[in-house]
Amino acid sequence: MAKNYQVPTGTQDFLPQQTKIWQEVEQIIREECEKYSYQEIRTPVFEYTEVFKTENDSSDMVTKEMYTFETTSEKGSTSFVLRPEGTKGIVRSFVEHKLYGNTAELPQKLYYIGPMFRHERPQKGRYRQFHQFGIEAIGAKDPLLDVETIALGYSIIKRLGIKDVKILVNSLGDDESRNNYRQALKDYFKPHLNELCEDCNRRYEMNPLRILDCKVDRNNPIFTSAPSIKDYWNETSKEYFAKVIEGLEILQIPYEIDDKLVRGLDYYSNTVYEAVPIDATGQQAAVFAGGQYDGLVDYFGGGPLPGVGFGMGLERVIELAKEQGRFEVTNKSCDVYVITMGDVAAYGLQATQSLREAGLKVEKDYLGRSLKAQFKATERLQSKIIVIIGEEEKEKRTVNVKNVATQTQQTVSIDELVEFVKKELGKE
Ligand code: ATP
Ligand code: MG
Repeated sequence: MAKNYQVPTGTQDFLPQQTKIWQEVEQIIREECEKYSYQEIRTPVFEYTEVFKTENDSSDMVTKEMYTFETTSEKGSTSFVLRPEGTKGIVRSFVEHKLYGNTAELPQKLYYIGPMFRHERPQKGRYRQFHQFGIEAIGAKDPLLDVETIALGYSIIKRLGIKDVKILVNSLGDDESRNNYRQALKDYFKPHLNELCEDCNRRYEMNPLRILDCKVDRNNPIFTSAPSIKDYWNETSKEYFAKVIEGLEILQIPYEIDDKLVRGLDYYSNTVYEAVPIDATGQQAAVFAGGQYDGLVDYFGGGPLPGVGFGMGLERVIELAKEQGRFEVTNKSCDVYVITMGDVAAYGLQATQSLREAGLKVEKDYLGRSLKAQFKATERLQSKIIVIIGEEEKEKRTVNVKNVATQTQQTVSIDELVEFVKKELGKE
């Protein structure tokens, strides 16, 4: 059988020029999280299956897209999943470490960056291993905390130079409002069930709200005239949502109320949102998406604490930033290139190491290249300083230092090398 030495479908390798961009993006994310006082949490990429396969979760992600595997030992077999998203693992960890116990520290404001896994059909902006940055603020219910999460996501988007993003926002209301709405949707869709797709028929039974999230039936006229959640908000839900909107107004974050936005995951309540490009038409539009959730902390045994957060798809964000010309491809470069000729390996190594220990970016040749080829390498790496070492220099314990910008060359003692190079680079 032919060997398949390729990345698995729906995954990708990021080569050095790409990882440079990823590091820059992650740096921006970390800086913004600091400002908003979110701290990083790292949980395993795989969890026991029951962490994700929670009761009543009818989302495609949980029912169809999870990578599940089993391991067997003498004790029997155990089922695990590769995490498809961040929230549940973090809530599991929040409860396991009893972070709810320290009320002085509530809400706990956490963020994560890492790979997620979903077995879906790969398309542009949709992968089987992708990367999410996400935040969770657990232990407080305040419309302004919801707004803060949106503001943090939006500030990252702005810093990445992505323009023309708006926030679609809706409220699923509190339990009472949502139950009433659920019933209204059931009554409404009942006579149309045979016109809806198979999944929607399943959703009808498990969670009729999610019918509105259907990608197949979305443009069906039955959908457009379906009842609107806003007619089912009770006073509490109305007031809460009004404060969210007020917060967005104050911060001048462009938003649009979308009363059919329900979000894919099942655990949301009250505020839900999606950040999308203003001109978005496709299905891979959301750059970050999230909302408030009730019940999840309680489900894992941590009591009735609410949470709010979002997940941001980094592949999509980076793609958009690139489209706006945000990232220049930068070639490998160095401050100093050490050229060696003849039997001077140890001496050259010493010189190289002392420069590196002084904090400079230094490269040398490892292929026994000719003098000419080594000079070529200094050009390719845009080296600012070239240190040239031959047998004579080694004898005299000196080195030749060439400043490329000024085209001057000087012989200095090996002991003065670091100071001299730093001075030439203006890094004293
Ligand atoms: P969609 O409706 O696009 O399938 P979703 O509801 O499944 O989205 P979430 O679970 O809310 O998405 O994930 C949050 C974000 O993660 C999305 O807005 C998107 O940016 C990103 N994302 C989700 N699935 C993928 C994927 N398969 N590949 C790349 N990015 C993804
Ligand atoms: Mg999805």
